Amino acid sequence: MSESQRAQLAGDAVTGDGTTSGITDDGTADVVILGAGPAGLVLGNLLLASGIDCVVLERADRAHVQTRARAGYLAANTVRILEEHGLAEGLRRGGVPHAVCEFRSGDGRFRLDYGSIGPAGAHTVYPQQELVTDLLTHYLDAGGRLEFETEAVAVLDADGTRPSVVVRTADGEGQGRNGRWRGRYVAGCDGRHGAARRSLPAGVVRHHRDHGVTWLGLLAEAPPSLDAVGYAVHRRGFAGHMARTSEVTRYYLQIERGGPADAWSEQRIWDELALRMRAADYGPLRRGPIVQRAVVDLESDVLEPLRRGSLFLVGDAASLLSPSAAKGANLAVLEAEILARALVDDLAHGNPEGLDRYSARCLEHIWRAQEFSHWMIQLLHSPPGPADGETLFHDALARSRLETLRTSRTHQQWFAEGYVGV
Ligand SMILES: Cc1cc2nc3c(=O)[nH]c(=O)nc-3n(C[C@H](O)[C@H](O)[C@H](O)COP(=O)(O)OP(=O)(O)OC[C@H]3O[C@@H](n4cnc5c(N)ncnc54)[C@H](O)[C@@H]3O)c2cc1C
Repeated sequence: MSESQRAQLAGDAVTGDGTTSGITDDGTADVVILGAGPAGLVLGNLLLASGIDCVVLERADRAHVQTRARAGYLAANTVRILEEHGLAEGLRRGGVPHAVCEFRSGDGRFRLDYGSIGPAGAHTVYPQQELVTDLLTHYLDAGGRLEFETEAVAVLDADGTRPSVVVRTADGEGQGRNGRWRGRYVAGCDGRHGAARRSLPAGVVRHHRDHGVTWLGLLAEAPPSLDAVGYAVHRRGFAGHMARTSEVTRYYLQIERGGPADAWSEQRIWDELALRMRAADYGPLRRGPIVQRAVVDLESDVLEPLRRGSLFLVGDAASLLSPSAAKGANLAVLEAEILARALVDDLAHGNPEGLDRYSARCLEHIWRAQEFSHWMIQLLHSPPGPADGETLFHDALARSRLETLRTSRTHQQWFAEGYVGV
């Protein structure tokens, strides 16, 4: 994308010599971080603690950032990173260890104590909005710079050594105002629809897969119904159960793609969950009001490489994982740590080696996580549509996979490592 195209994207006037006009310079920082999710806030905290000058630009307001419920299962490695950098106080108080999942299908049910089997340990259940609140509070208390309601629109000169970020801020009257942050490096932690992805110079490849499966993601004000992550494999589609707190539970229901989420009344949702989770055989679900619902088309993608010039991609901006194996937030934290170390080495010690290796290091972790998530998708979902030969073949394979997982210790160890590992 040319400078003038990006400027037009930013809604600015473009002068005859191709530069932008009508943009005020809002500030400078060695590292301009786009997005205050897990990736941006871990990166901001680590840089700040090492004395690196940085600023976080966040599109939403603080209340929105602190209440957006998404992930909940933190891998042991994520907890290790947060602890090592003094960011785990809330997690230690409120996190609940979790180590068991239960699979249910037409062949019965079995439990897998993955926490005691694999080398990667257990999960800690801690809602993402709590983690983000902790990271945000820590960063601001330490004197970190963060601009809320500041949307990055485009990254200019990403290929050069003085990139800048064109931003749009609210002015209180709904008009907005364009500004610009200049930096030495830009960290794109602004998710899959952010400005970092939109601004990538040529030469970045996007590997993409649409799994053809759609979930209704639900948050219920209801205590968990079982003391494990529940995965129900059913000809009518997948159903999942994941505890968030003692009062809140996340459920997933595979639904027909393109169907309206509103078509699902609360009664219908609970009845369908109970049916697929075989509540009649294994115990009733504890019902409560559904306070959040979202339709999620299961897709995965990976951008490669994760660095172009001065612009780095981190977290969901780098790679989108289907939520089937609960990996996205964990990868985001890991990549933020890798990038933070590399930036400190470069900016404080003049050693650019880590930055040069950033993309290759992260991609290794990302593809392992993608591979495991893909396996989970194949295991859990019946292909939508009528039960033809292909569907029946797929379902028989999934049954065989479940049986192998139930009976083979070696397979269980492989699962445990892939499930918790990042
Ligand atoms: C229903 C669901 C359940 C999930 N469960 C799990 C789980 O159990 N475990 C797990 O590990 N992962 C899970 N995930 C995935 C996980 O939530 C994401 O991978 C994680 O949030 C990625 O963190 P991030 O910081 O990269 O991006 P985000 O959390 O998306 O943060 C990006 C931030 O950038 C801001 N932003 C966006 N565009 C701009 C812009 N142009 N300018 C400035 N700011 C911008 C956004 O407002 C946001 O605050 C789940 C996801 C979903 C949807």
